[in-house]
Amino acid sequence: MKANEIADYFVDRTTFAMGLSDNIRRMLLTPDRQLQVKIVLERDNGEVVTFTGFRVQHSNARGPYKGGLRYHPLVDRDEAQGLASLMTWKTALVDIPYGGGKGGIDCEAASLTPRELEILTRKFVRAVGSVIGPYDDIPAPDMNTNARVMAWIMDEYAKIYGFNPAVVTGKPVDLFGSLGREEATGQGVFLTTEAFLQERGMEMSRIRLAIQGFGNVGSWAAHFFHRAGAKIVAVSDVRGAIYNPEGIDVVALREHVRRYGAILGFEGGDAMPGDGLLTCDCDVLIPAAMGGVVTRDIARGIRARVIVEAANAPVLPEAEDFLTDKGVIVLPDILVNAGGVTVSYYEWVQNIQQLRWTPAQILEGLTSKMREAYGRVSALSREKGVTLREAAYIIAIGRVAKAVTLRGAY
Ligand code: GLU
Repeated sequence: MKANEIADYFVDRTTFAMGLSDNIRRMLLTPDRQLQVKIVLERDNGEVVTFTGFRVQHSNARGPYKGGLRYHPLVDRDEAQGLASLMTWKTALVDIPYGGGKGGIDCEAASLTPRELEILTRKFVRAVGSVIGPYDDIPAPDMNTNARVMAWIMDEYAKIYGFNPAVVTGKPVDLFGSLGREEATGQGVFLTTEAFLQERGMEMSRIRLAIQGFGNVGSWAAHFFHRAGAKIVAVSDVRGAIYNPEGIDVVALREHVRRYGAILGFEGGDAMPGDGLLTCDCDVLIPAAMGGVVTRDIARGIRARVIVEAANAPVLPEAEDFLTDKGVIVLPDILVNAGGVTVSYYEWVQNIQQLRWTPAQILEGLTSKMREAYGRVSALSREKGVTLREAAYIIAIGRVAKAVTLRGAY
């Protein structure tokens, strides 16, 4: 199932359950704009390669389109469309004044040199520049893009349209970026899980976690859980996984990954095949890498009682119903990983107001946003007897549908 089918499935199901009209449902499902561009790159060795880039703008009913750019071979129009739709619901759920967008380039980022990546990024900005802007569409980091890439976007955009750092978020702190943005998604994952555990009277120190993915989101999430006393028993990246029932030393692992670029070779745990992580013995499973990893087959083997969707769309709908029947609780992506875009919003506000928030202001803002969103989702789920995902979608779709209706269709 592709990302657009997953997103549409949840929207379809929720609009039906909410009794919204077919007219509104179609308006919510159809993206506003899909742009596909060709980017030609002369590689360092003289070879000329052609890449395809995308920017999908799903909805701007509640504010400018907002969402990341990923550099990955699986990037295509369908994926960008599905992830753009998720951004619309995510920004609505945490109630920040944005819509949803997403994009990227179909490429193997690791095989490109820094110079090639810079040229590719700048050419992408030239190709999509006319549809992005501080009040139109604001890109941000996602898979295989980072603050450095955002700096190139800011700089290239400035050359064509004039200086305006609010055109992109997730920039380096030394170049109009915000304190706390780098760790925000992982921190949001932690804050949501913490709110969930507290509500159920479960102690953080008794929780055994498994985290799939040790990129920006997974490694920061691991840091916050470790600091709060949780036991991280398993961690994986694209090259493999480790398991340690006594708990992995996350500080040492982060240092190892910083130095060697992978978990491979870390001695503080037993090596196991990467695909064993999802079904390992743990209480809370955190998929923080790719979408679509929890299939129905995998779901059968899952031993965790709680799944925290740190990645976008890791649990397929076919698996979700099965898990719910089994009593496994899924904390949904549009809630769990909304911390990144929330601090992106704070970065944008700081850029527009030309001031800098303190770390305490960022933390306070992020914590209250995540707790409030969790509280609303949890309360509605209890009130209506629906899953946390269904509750999250009801809130998000309700807000967007209201904005669409108020704006009118004339
Ligand atoms: N790429 C992140 C996401 O999927 C962050 C988006 C943003 O900061 O705009 O939520």
